[in-house]
Amino acid sequence: MKNRKGTDMSSIVVIGAGQAGASLVAKLRAEGFDGHIALIGEEHAPPYQRPPLSKKYLLGEMALERLFLRPESYYPENAIDLHLDTRADAIDRADKRVIAGGKSIPYDLLALTTGSVPRRLPGRLGGELAGVYVVRGLADVDAMAPEFREGAHVLIVGGGYIGLEAAAVAASRGLRVTLVEAAPRILQRVAAPETSDYFRALHASHGVDIREGVGLDTLTGEDRVTGARLSDGTELEVDFVIVGVGITPATALAEAAGLEVENGIKVDAFGRTSDPAIWAAGDCASFPHQGQRLRLESVPNAIDMAERVAENMMGAEKPYVPQPWFWSDQYDVKLQIAGLNAGYDRVIARAGEQEGSASFWYYKGDTLLAVDAMNDARAYMVGKRLIDAGRSPDPEAIANPATELKALLRP
Ligand SMILES: Cc1cc2nc3c(=O)[nH]c(=O)nc-3n(C[C@H](O)[C@H](O)[C@H](O)COP(=O)(O)OP(=O)(O)OC[C@H]3O[C@@H](n4cnc5c(N)ncnc54)[C@H](O)[C@@H]3O)c2cc1C
Repeated sequence: MKNRKGTDMSSIVVIGAGQAGASLVAKLRAEGFDGHIALIGEEHAPPYQRPPLSKKYLLGEMALERLFLRPESYYPENAIDLHLDTRADAIDRADKRVIAGGKSIPYDLLALTTGSVPRRLPGRLGGELAGVYVVRGLADVDAMAPEFREGAHVLIVGGGYIGLEAAAVAASRGLRVTLVEAAPRILQRVAAPETSDYFRALHASHGVDIREGVGLDTLTGEDRVTGARLSDGTELEVDFVIVGVGITPATALAEAAGLEVENGIKVDAFGRTSDPAIWAAGDCASFPHQGQRLRLESVPNAIDMAERVAENMMGAEKPYVPQPWFWSDQYDVKLQIAGLNAGYDRVIARAGEQEGSASFWYYKGDTLLAVDAMNDARAYMVGKRLIDAGRSPDPEAIANPATELKALLRP
């Protein structure tokens, strides 16, 4: 079979059976690709959604099967060879083959959807002690689940979304929670001080002890972690530790194969790597955006980019233009984020209609960049539609509680 551009594509191999990989293979079939598809994943479970891992699944309110993106029968029914528990070890670009699980799998076109790798604490800081966890995969969460005993003391290292969500679950389940953030404030990398203040107060109201500007010096314990020394000299006794200090894109395989890497596997506007037969999508890929390179770590990006890449593998030649959005659930607060706030120079606060609801609108000059909406679906929806349409309401109108938000959508 040839695609619309005449490229031979009887066989497509996709490495990484996560959100982007699953979306990519499904889109290929939806687009009418009837050649061979192999989806290779090193994890044991079929492709699943990660967001509930630090939310409902960790709370014990979601069954395993509900995590799966598609029923297991979907793959054989759609003639997709799903290789689970199989790590791709190398790409032989000259011979167009993937070496995985002792097999050599030929491809005409290859897609890399390898996701990202959580940063771990180095061994010299106690990162290899038992009782120290990261939250990336199902196996991580299943391993830490027995630690969530009422009254246990958990130390969470890192005040980003993953750390804060884990803190919310732990506090909701009756654990004692201490969270340390080395930066001056939680969410510093991703949000304005207003949003940090909102979530600091929320966690404080649930008894979480948040310490900002305080790093971890070292974890202590024989084989298993029993304590922690913080950068301000404080010593804590802890029962277990969750490390949420960010991720790095999973580029090792691509690098070893000689593909260009620049904060992720470097792709062009269509999702193609420096090898025209190899494509990439999701957390692992960095793409051109407004004169710079961008890499996003979110479900919407993984789905949208993977679907666009599938179309482009079929010859569509449509550039990928992200319409970023994100969410986080902590206690009974749903945070919804539209847009990207990089480069903002002011933030307009707007109170929501219900108690505790609020939104923060990020502007650069008069241009609306992003909105953080806490339990305010309307602010999120209006903000997203305005941003996607490239429209910027007058900041004064946003700040004015008498402004009817939906009226801002009128042309
Ligand atoms: C706990 C948690 C909560 C999150 N919450 C949110 C949220 O609320 N909202 C949101 O938008 N995003 C959230 N995210 C981020 C979101 O889940 C990711 O951005 C998304 O999963 C990225 O999809 P992906 O396919 O690129 O990577 P992944 O879903 O990580 O899939 C990559 C897969 O490739 C596999 N792989 C890597 N290398 C190889 C290899 N050599 N051989 C075989 N397999 C390989 C990996 O094991 C993995 O299974 C969360 C992430 C986590 C971990």
